[in-house]
Amino acid sequence: MNFRYMTSRVPSPYAERLGEIAHQLGMELQSQMPLSRYTAARIGGPAEFLIEVNSSSKLAQLMPLIWENEIPYTLLGGGSNVLISDEGLVGLVIINRARGRSRVRFDLSGHPALVWADAGVNLAHLARQAAEQGLSGLEWACGIPGTLGGAIVNNAGAFDGDMAGSLVMVTILHRKWETNQFRAVQEQWTVEEMEYRYRSSRLKQNAIQAIVLSALLRLERRDSTEIKVKMEDFAQRRKKTQPPGASLGSMFKNPPGDFAGRLIDAAGLKGLTIGGAMISPLHANFFINLGNATAKDVWQLIQAARQAVAAKFGIDLELEIQPLGNFAEPSTPSVIQSSLEVQNE
Ligand SMILES: Cc1cc2nc3c(=O)[nH]c(=O)nc-3n(C[C@H](O)[C@H](O)[C@H](O)COP(=O)(O)OP(=O)(O)OC[C@H]3O[C@@H](n4cnc5c(N)ncnc54)[C@H](O)[C@@H]3O)c2cc1C
Repeated sequence: MNFRYMTSRVPSPYAERLGEIAHQLGMELQSQMPLSRYTAARIGGPAEFLIEVNSSSKLAQLMPLIWENEIPYTLLGGGSNVLISDEGLVGLVIINRARGRSRVRFDLSGHPALVWADAGVNLAHLARQAAEQGLSGLEWACGIPGTLGGAIVNNAGAFDGDMAGSLVMVTILHRKWETNQFRAVQEQWTVEEMEYRYRSSRLKQNAIQAIVLSALLRLERRDSTEIKVKMEDFAQRRKKTQPPGASLGSMFKNPPGDFAGRLIDAAGLKGLTIGGAMISPLHANFFINLGNATAKDVWQLIQAARQAVAAKFGIDLELEIQPLGNFAEPSTPSVIQSSLEVQNE
């Protein structure tokens, strides 16, 4: 598994340049910001540097300068699909969360209706806005935290709907090698060019330097009340099956023909607690922060679940979430090791 950064304690070589860039763009540069404030699981050590942007145009101004100066960076939307290490992240963390209604535009003149939105728009909020307009296609998204950009990268989905189902076009800022130099080029990628698969896309799979600026979605006209009833039904189903509280959502992808939660449950790990993190007794693919969980606690639970499922079913669970930062492969904690040995006898 590749992790994008290792932590280091040497003085930052790009602090001065980052200060100049932030000044030039009128952005606030913060340092040593706890990333637990920016993640749904409320876990994560400090960002060496952090800038918040609130529109795709600001993001499009910032990225070429970061690329030009070869500054290591991590782009986050809602931080709802990442596990950030306790040591935090080296370089710049960019938080992309759009503010204001002007970041979404509806074109209701044709069939289907079209919606343009900034990548930093809150996905669930966008789904509710669409419902208000009598536009169907995003009902599945009403309970999913995070931004449209994160959902586009992950091909987020639920209840038989997903991002690929509504997307027409994505505006990408792509760092490309052209005529003997790197350039930041804006491109329009069609949904086919995103190469979507289950919770995956070309952007998630490949280590290309490209970010989502905005997207065009296609939605169908329906009765607004009908859409809201469907959303309420999805919300109730989520409430019954998924635990409340700080978590990362589904930890593992479902393997073909089965469910990661069912496998972890059948391996006897529901309720397993390490430090401040617990495998939810309600849904075993959700790992909960009980209040003071560290990334290491969660990482150890991940190893325990993987090992238990591999030992019992011969299935290698694949992470749905993305670990960022420094994660050593830990040995299985002894308490789990002994419980696995008992189960395998
Ligand atoms: C309680 C809970 C329930 C959830 N339920 C679901 C569910 O039902 N279905 C589902 O699919 N997911 C679910 N998730 C996972 C998560 O909410 C989604 O994957 C979400 O779409 C991630 O968006 P984000 O903005 O938080 O992304 P982040 O976690 O911030 O980022 C995820 C990845 O996307 C990249 N990224 C973010 N924005 C951009 C951008 N503009 N350009 C390029 N790369 C970008 C990041 O660099 C990172 O690699 C759930 C999570 C939680 C906590």
